[in-house]
Amino acid sequence: MRLKDSLLDILYPEVNCPSCSSEGPLDAHTALCKKCHRELPFYAEARTLGEYKSLSVLWYEGLAAQLIKRMKYAGQAYLARLFAVLLQYACEQADFRADYVTYVPMYPAKMKERGFDQVELICRQLEALGYRKLAALTKIKDTPPQASLDLAARESNVKGSFMASGAAGKSFLLIDDVITTGSTITECAGTLKRAGAKSVCLASVARAR
Ligand SMILES: [Zn+2]
Repeated sequence: MRLKDSLLDILYPEVNCPSCSSEGPLDAHTALCKKCHRELPFYAEARTLGEYKSLSVLWYEGLAAQLIKRMKYAGQAYLARLFAVLLQYACEQADFRADYVTYVPMYPAKMKERGFDQVELICRQLEALGYRKLAALTKIKDTPPQASLDLAARESNVKGSFMASGAAGKSFLLIDDVITTGSTITECAGTLKRAGAKSVCLASVARAR
């Protein structure tokens, strides 16, 4: 990229819709075009998951599922910004506050294989929006994909597969991309609590029905 182009990028960032690349007019908040914005299956309701307050911005279907898959499997990392903006807005609306954002991590070898951890990228964008980010969790066991298992097996599959560090006395907003049964994210939350975290609330980009 020429210097002039990178300067232009800084002065005039992304002017196209991050979903369909069409030119504006873009929504002032999500920066999506009106059509994509209307198409997103918003959910954004705070609930409880186990003993934790939990929030998901979208239903995991339609355009939301497409965008998440594009980020995860097609490496379209620029979508992290959109997901972070959506999460920030939903968390502020629901009054989800914490000292730090942290995330459900991938197993290190899997992360190396993919080249990036999509949830970590979303948290980096949250950091750019003013949150403090702390990588408080590590995945210490390589486990079979949750999608292949039923609920009981999902819970035992992830049990003891994470480790927390530096969590004592802190409150966390724990982020994942998709919540399905909630087994993974509640295991992570429990791991933070057992390591002395003061409080944990959960937020995901999307929630499977
Ligand atoms: Zn669009």
